[in-house]
Amino acid sequence: MEIVKATLTCPYCSSKESAEIPNDSCVPFYKCKSCGEMIKAKEEDCCVFCSYGSEPCPLNKNK
Ligand SMILES: [Zn+2]
Repeated sequence: MEIVKATLTCPYCSSKESAEIPNDSCVPFYKCKSCGEMIKAKEEDCCVFCSYGSEPCPLNKNK
């Protein structure tokens, strides 16, 4: 299966890191490796990638 990667920008420390987007599930939380804060998806978004990533998650793309 193709692995989709996106760049997540941490809203707390603005660091960018590359993370894999799962094909079949959402990622509502992601722990920032740089500052250790828990990045949460915005209320209207299903997924941290939709809120802070360079790519929306695949589930959102299909809508
Ligand atoms: Zn951070």
